[in-house]
Amino acid sequence: MSLNLNATFVGSSGDFTASQLYAGLNVDFSQLNWFERQWMAWYIWIGNPLIATGIASFILHETVYFGRCIPWIIIDAIPYFRKWKLQPSKVPTPEEQWECTKGVLFSHFTVEGPAIFLFHPVAESFGMSTWQVPFPSWQAMIPQLAFFFIFEDMFHYFSHQLLHTPLLYKHIHKLHHKYSAPFGLAAEYAHPLEVMILGTGTIFGPLLYCWFRPNLHIVTVYIWITLRLFQAIDAHSGYDFPWSLQHIVPFWSGAEHHDFHHMAFVNNFSTSFRWWDRLLGTDKKYLAYRERMRAATKGLDAAKRKAVEEKMVAEEEEAGFAAEKEVERQAEGKKNQ
Ligand SMILES: [Zn+2]
Ligand SMILES: [Zn+2]
Repeated sequence: MSLNLNATFVGSSGDFTASQLYAGLNVDFSQLNWFERQWMAWYIWIGNPLIATGIASFILHETVYFGRCIPWIIIDAIPYFRKWKLQPSKVPTPEEQWECTKGVLFSHFTVEGPAIFLFHPVAESFGMSTWQVPFPSWQAMIPQLAFFFIFEDMFHYFSHQLLHTPLLYKHIHKLHHKYSAPFGLAAEYAHPLEVMILGTGTIFGPLLYCWFRPNLHIVTVYIWITLRLFQAIDAHSGYDFPWSLQHIVPFWSGAEHHDFHHMAFVNNFSTSFRWWDRLLGTDKKYLAYRERMRAATKGLDAAKRKAVEEKMVAEEEEAGFAAEKEVERQAEGKKNQ
């Protein structure tokens, strides 16, 4: 793509040329880096900022989501990695992964796609930069990204707990809990309302930031979305490697934390960090389970250790099924009142 500053733009304020649009920026175009020049070329080529942002956002989401899932699909197919699987006997079959992919794709095209196309006008109305160049410096981006992580984790923690109340669970969140041993592709396998509710935590952080500070660029939001997708997919991967992030950053949740939520149905409601669950005591069962597992497998050889682990995982999962049934029974009770 080459820059054509005479291309015609179709904008909400009428037609205008790209040169007019970018001329108003007072930018020395010769100083732009390669990414910034491609960014400009994209907006000029598409000719409509709303559509250009919508297409770019949707492609980014699909590429990152499925791109990040592929390594986990490969890992699931290689028995060597089983020793790091949190629920070793629960490896998803190709049929299960395909069923899940179809569900996720349906949701992407019917719910997330339209919402993504609405993002541009909403973002602009909050004062976010979209087509503008140059991009902000990484020094400006880092505190913004930190804020988005902290905000999303807090929002998710409380709304996820709400989704576990009987009626919301039965009608909305149950779908996401279909997999008691999750895998990467299951990260966004959820009811459309859940996608909207929990997606708010991801999107509202950047909008809230714009409300107070005028220096947010959508490219920073793209970096945030990429990191957030990596976080969500990895948390559902079902694997805890010695090099997983939670072993380096102790307050990072990771798969080891969220896998327990799917297996035991209780505790660990947050996404990225462990602090809300620790602070409000919603990790007590998880910590007790970890301690029991540690004590029971101490000093055992690999074969015995595996047998004990499998037995304890199965018991915890049974308890999880019972807890889920109890919540659904309460929902029935509420309906009949
Ligand atoms: Zn849940
Ligand atoms: Zn989950």
